[in-house]
Amino acid sequence: MTPGRHRRTTQRLLVPLLVLGLSLGSATIAQAGPGEAADATVVDSTGQPGRTVALTFDDGPNAGETSRMLDLLGEHRVKAVFCLWGQHVRENPELVRRIVAEGHVLCNHTMRHENMSTWSPADIRANLRATNEVIHEAVPGAEIRYFRAPYGAWGETPSVAADMGMQPLGWSLSVADWNRPGTDVLVRRLMDGISPGGVVLLHDGGGDRGQTVRAVSRVVPRLRAEGWRFTLPARSG
Ligand SMILES: [Zn+2]
Repeated sequence: MTPGRHRRTTQRLLVPLLVLGLSLGSATIAQAGPGEAADATVVDSTGQPGRTVALTFDDGPNAGETSRMLDLLGEHRVKAVFCLWGQHVRENPELVRRIVAEGHVLCNHTMRHENMSTWSPADIRANLRATNEVIHEAVPGAEIRYFRAPYGAWGETPSVAADMGMQPLGWSLSVADWNRPGTDVLVRRLMDGISPGGVVLLHDGGGDRGQTVRAVSRVVPRLRAEGWRFTLPARSG
C-alpha cells in the first residue's frame, strides 16, 4: 500500500459512524449461495460474549513482518485472520502455507487491493475467483473463510463474496497502523479502543509493519492478563 492510496481511506476509517453506516448498508443485502455457509452481512464482531477479541491482519503476506507476526502469534497461542492480496500470495506462497499450517484463517483481500465500490458483480466475482485460485495454488484445498473489501469500499462485494462461501469481514477498530505513528501510540490506541467482541484491523503487509509487530507483542500479553480471550470473527451464515 502506498501511503497515498491509504490516505484516501484514512478519513473514512477515522469516522466510525460512516464505517458503521457502510456495514449496516451492506447488512441489508440478504444473499446466500446454495449450500454455502455465508451470508452478505458484513461481520464486525466475534459474536461471543465477554472479553473476546479477534485480530485480523491485512495486505500480506509480506516476507518480513508476516513471518515475525506468525512467530509472535505462535508464542502466545493466538489464532488470527490474514486477509491476503493475490499478488502477494504469488510472491510469498510459502508464507501462506505457514499461515494455514499454524492454524490461522484465510481471508480474500482481492488480487491487487482494488477499490471495487463501482464494480459489477461479474467483475467482482472474476477478481475474487482469481485470488482464490492463487491461494489454492499455494495451499490446495485451503478454506478461505472471509472476504474483506479494500478500503472498506464494499459496493456489491458482500453478496458476491457470500455467494462464493466467504463471509464479508469488517472491523470494529482500526488504529491506522499504516501511518506508522510509533509503537507507543499504536499500543495506546489498541488498549484504549479494544471493546468486548471487537474485530481489530491491523496490517502485516503493504509496507514496513515493524511498529505493528512490536505493538502486538506488547498488547497481547497485557490483554490476556486482563482476562481477554483471542478468537475469530463471527460468521453469520
Ligand atoms: Zn488492505
